[in-house]
Amino acid sequence: MSFSLHEHSDTIVALATPQGVGAIAVIRLSGKEALRLTNKVFKGKDLEKQDSHTIHFGTIRDGDKIIDEVLVSLFVAPKSFTKENVVEISTHGSSYIVNQVIKLLIRNGARPAKPGEFTQRAFLNGQFDLAQAEAVADLIHSDSETSHQAAMHQMRGGFSGEIQKLRAELIHFASMIELELDFGEEDVEFASRDDLRILVEKLLRAVELLIGSFDLGNVIKNGVPTVIAGKPNAGKSTLLNALLNEEKAIVSEIAGTTRDFIEDEINIGGVIFRFIDTAGLRETTDIIESIGVSRTHEKMKTASLILYLFDLTDTDLSEIETDIAKLEDLGVPFVKVANKMDKGNPNLISTLKTNYPDTIFISAGQKENLEALKDRVLELVNLDKFRTGNTIVTNIRHYDSLMKTRDSLLDILQGLEIQITNDFLAMDIRRSLHFLGEITGEITTDDLLENIFRKFCIGK
Ligand code: GDP
Repeated sequence: MSFSLHEHSDTIVALATPQGVGAIAVIRLSGKEALRLTNKVFKGKDLEKQDSHTIHFGTIRDGDKIIDEVLVSLFVAPKSFTKENVVEISTHGSSYIVNQVIKLLIRNGARPAKPGEFTQRAFLNGQFDLAQAEAVADLIHSDSETSHQAAMHQMRGGFSGEIQKLRAELIHFASMIELELDFGEEDVEFASRDDLRILVEKLLRAVELLIGSFDLGNVIKNGVPTVIAGKPNAGKSTLLNALLNEEKAIVSEIAGTTRDFIEDEINIGGVIFRFIDTAGLRETTDIIESIGVSRTHEKMKTASLILYLFDLTDTDLSEIETDIAKLEDLGVPFVKVANKMDKGNPNLISTLKTNYPDTIFISAGQKENLEALKDRVLELVNLDKFRTGNTIVTNIRHYDSLMKTRDSLLDILQGLEIQITNDFLAMDIRRSLHFLGEITGEITTDDLLENIFRKFCIGK
């Protein structure tokens, strides 16, 4: 990451609270000049003479004009989020006031912050590593309890801690092998190849565990991809609407008018479900409809959960049996949902209750029994897995680095197998260290040198 000195010495300013009207708005400044700059427009105590972590009442003035009465919080470097001087100005929450104050600060020497720049500075100043910086972004965007927990865990260093432990062990071996290289022709072996193989295998298992958590992590972050499947007029749009509680899908009296996929998210018990509305489950003669149907099949295969919805007023038992058999073949977990129980055929209902006791009977139109459906859906996604507090990889960049780490670890194993020379072995290890380092943003070669130096001061 390149960052010019000039930019880094700038004092940046931005609104820290959301755009729009609120009771208060917080404008944040970070940089060497944050205090001096605020002082120029603030009438109250001399901010540069105050202690860190204190709050001061006063007014923000543009010449003689009072823009607002404000509270100013001071965080003196390095005791702040960015480790620079930080000032937070709490104004009244009008966008007019916010704009006036920000413009005034810019006129006095601040620069508008770029997206993520506060966090970037925190990272560059060593507040946390790259993985944690990314977790801050995830935390800000988390919209459910589980995604919030995953981001919190990662930010507090859960993820980085594990990676660092793994790297430390490998660095130790790398140092030994580098040392052997230094001895050149002499036949020395500081690093037992058997021990190295055992360590690499251990690392491989750990890395694979993290890679495996990505699916789960991805689900937490992006939602469980869920398909509502059923023939036209079964009530799919109505159900989706009832769940979303707003008119996002087009409900139509005409069969088969829901042709496009409408993806929407709902939060059930802290888990995000990303709904993919579908055009129906079976082939029809209508061309547009059948395009929709084949796309439905594709979508269904990528779903983690299917709600199989059928209409109790116009479906017979054999149709339902056929559909259920097809769904079982597909291998994606599904819930049998019988809709329109308000008008349903009582014989069909009682047969279903006997033959398929796990059927959920609802009335999407009347919003009846939706809670039972939600409960079942939650059961199916197996919440225990979500709440273990184990490290979960949620970031595609980490996933990528982990995949590369795995490949390079496999290279080490293969190298050991065919007894490649030390310099190649050292190269493979360096590569693994590099990819692991990518995740936490550490610099591999420096680590390596420092470690060698620290452990083996044998003046050579
Ligand atoms: P889709 O084609 O599967 O998306 O079906 P829609 O959601 O468009 O619903 C088709 C028709 O069934 C509409 O007229 C809905 O009002 C009606 N409908 C949906 N749910 C229920 C229900 O629970 N009871 C009754 N009686 N009608 C329903």
